[in-house]
Amino acid sequence: MTDNDILVEVRDLKVHFPIKRGVLFDRTIGQVKAVDGVDLRIPRGQTYGLVGESGCGKSTLGRALLQLTPPTGGEVVFDDVELTTLPPARLRAMRRRMQMIFQDPMSSLDPRQNVESILTEGLQTHGIGGNRDERRAIIGEALDKVGLPRWALSRYPHEFSGGQRQRIGIARAVVLGPELIVADEPVSALDVSIQAQVVNLLDELQESLGLTYLVIAHDLAVVRHISDIVGVMYLGALVEEAPSDRLYTEPLHPYTRALMSAVPVPDPDVEDRRERILLAGDLPSPANPPAGCRFHTRCPWAQPTRCADERPVLRDIGGSRVACHWAERIASGELRPNHAGAGVTRAPDGGEAPEPVSIPAPTAKADSVDG
Ligand code: SF4
Repeated sequence: MTDNDILVEVRDLKVHFPIKRGVLFDRTIGQVKAVDGVDLRIPRGQTYGLVGESGCGKSTLGRALLQLTPPTGGEVVFDDVELTTLPPARLRAMRRRMQMIFQDPMSSLDPRQNVESILTEGLQTHGIGGNRDERRAIIGEALDKVGLPRWALSRYPHEFSGGQRQRIGIARAVVLGPELIVADEPVSALDVSIQAQVVNLLDELQESLGLTYLVIAHDLAVVRHISDIVGVMYLGALVEEAPSDRLYTEPLHPYTRALMSAVPVPDPDVEDRRERILLAGDLPSPANPPAGCRFHTRCPWAQPTRCADERPVLRDIGGSRVACHWAERIASGELRPNHAGAGVTRAPDGGEAPEPVSIPAPTAKADSVDG
């Protein structure tokens, strides 16, 4: 793949938020490292899925990529233009090309504006359409693209169902003719029956408009369906990145293996036989992340000394990028999970009883991690 094929490149991106104390909150006593040194590339016309537990920094990364949250450090290069140092006027102009779809369509749409007003706002901001008739024509086309009728223009958000409101949110993004869309949990607020429709709509729009997506989601099944590449985040950093099929069939990082082991499979025989990896403890605070490998306090494969002392970097292993010192030895089975260590595993025969669990249990929604 050449550099021309890459639409977005994120280099060593950091987003740190100061922790303030004092009567006037004028004393900085620490930093929450929401995103702490992320590198990723999104090829044109492809979908990059980003998964991880609640608080891992994936939404902050999405906002920082669009410069809606200013990065503390690093670079975001969009179509060869470095955004973090761009003057505000040029950044505003670039924003037309990069849009966002939000999780909750109800709270992201102004209830006092009708659909025409909602969709016109962006056109006016970016000087698209010379007069009202031209703008109405552009908006009408956007409604057609997302499968909403023209009469929707005069209606207000509360007059629509959740799925239709998300279509309005998608129309608001595509009406500006963007190249990149960051979709933050685009279907998690919707009924399961509606989710597939919206996922299919995103697929169709990508095909017809040549869109590039960054999809942030906690639902691993949705991410698998929609993504070409998947990145797994833990405590502000990527721990694994791979083509979607490979990540789901051959996860290499212990954290990815734990996430994937919670995804139910349709065959009950396979479901009964396979190993479930259960992690002890909660996600550590990003204000005080563990030294060394950030996952070592919960990792069933953690090895003495090195895992606690040395932070692993992303390495290329057979087409995946993995941040684990021992990924090859874990994959070959040479290293076994430590039942008495930070995490525990339950053997397929029901052997050892697990301790506290924070990866979701295999229920009907077990293909999700808490987003
Ligand atoms: Fe686990 Fe060590 Fe690998 Fe980190 S480096 S994921 S603690 S085995």
